[in-house]
Amino acid sequence: MQQARKGSAMRGAIGVDLGGSHVMAAVVDEVGEIHGTFEQDIEDHTPASVVEILATVVRSAIESSKHEIAGIGIGSPGNIDPGTGTIRYSPNFGWENVPLGQRVRELFPKYTVFLGNDARCATLGEYVHGVGQGTKDFVLLTLGTGIGGGIVSNGILALGHQMGAGEIGHHQIRPDSGFVCGCGKVGCFEAQASGTGLIRHAMRLAPSFPRSVLLDVPREKLGSKAIRKAAQTGDQHALAAWTAYCDDLAIGLANVIAFVNPEVIALGGGVSSAGDFMLDRIKPLVELRTTMVPRGTTRIVRATLGNDAGAVGAATAAMRGGLLARLPPTAVA
Ligand SMILES: [Zn+2]
Repeated sequence: MQQARKGSAMRGAIGVDLGGSHVMAAVVDEVGEIHGTFEQDIEDHTPASVVEILATVVRSAIESSKHEIAGIGIGSPGNIDPGTGTIRYSPNFGWENVPLGQRVRELFPKYTVFLGNDARCATLGEYVHGVGQGTKDFVLLTLGTGIGGGIVSNGILALGHQMGAGEIGHHQIRPDSGFVCGCGKVGCFEAQASGTGLIRHAMRLAPSFPRSVLLDVPREKLGSKAIRKAAQTGDQHALAAWTAYCDDLAIGLANVIAFVNPEVIALGGGVSSAGDFMLDRIKPLVELRTTMVPRGTTRIVRATLGNDAGAVGAATAAMRGGLLARLPPTAVA
């Protein structure tokens, strides 16, 4: 545990994880530890309503904090201009050009406000305070409803020409035979290898397995966890879905290795809780598909910050004044 500096409160920031149906604000200190979270569901997606709910949880977090709050960092889905804090496009909210950062700044004029893409924020959090520590080349992939990701290359978080770097979920791995992706393309990595992808593999294979235990699960309750657990107990249908899923995941991971040659790829999100049951299966498949890059030089591990990565990363960005993966040498104590 870090000690607070004598005579002054420890520095911290408010990190906000803004999702399509839920918002969470956390008080996060300089070493990435969370000191209290405040959450609310989002039902009304109009910008005014989302801003109001967001402001409520942020206010609660600030009031609860014993830290010297350096700023408010918000990780939001969508393509975001971090300079202005404008959400250019967010499919989750159906927004275009919403100046969310500006609205929050008006409500909290005492604080600096940073707004960035949620997956990039999570990557920063995991890189600075999680399993990415000590590496220079790092990739985070969150296998949830979709696939969120981010790339750190030579110690710098890749943002891209128009903030689009790291959209790993939307490179196509099965353009001819895959599932339709939320983005409109066919066979995107996200469509095949997210938690939703696992469910779709199970659905597609269902006609071949009339005795599957998965058929006893009500359709609305058929989640990726139920499929993974059935696979672990040896159900043939679930195992076939799991095998198809891991094949697709491995294709994408080998592509990521070819693109950025990371030292570590961290897997987060619901499906990654399968742990070794997943890692033991995918590692040899990734090796098999790794060419040109020296084999066995990328470690594939589980992410360690879990659902907190986004809020921790957003707070870290607020404290650093942006998505800086590595502080300039002069700023390092
Ligand atoms: Zn896509």
